[in-house]
Amino acid sequence: MTETCYLCGNETDEPIAIGIAHANSGPGRTVYACSPCRLTKRLLPLDQHPADSYGFPRFDYADAAVH
Ligand SMILES: [Zn+2]
Repeated sequence: MTETCYLCGNETDEPIAIGIAHANSGPGRTVYACSPCRLTKRLLPLDQHPADSYGFPRFDYADAAVH
């Protein structure tokens, strides 16, 4: 399965679902990131979102250094 990365726009063979793109009508569309972007941007995979998540892409800053 090839998907387009939400962040860099490149196609990736290893897409990781990172959120839901909400449309004005109808169900949302899953958005994907490639592995390098997910790692560098510290994106939280969709299946690790909290139960109350609306599905917007999340950045995991929980253990990032506080400046
Ligand atoms: Zn990417």
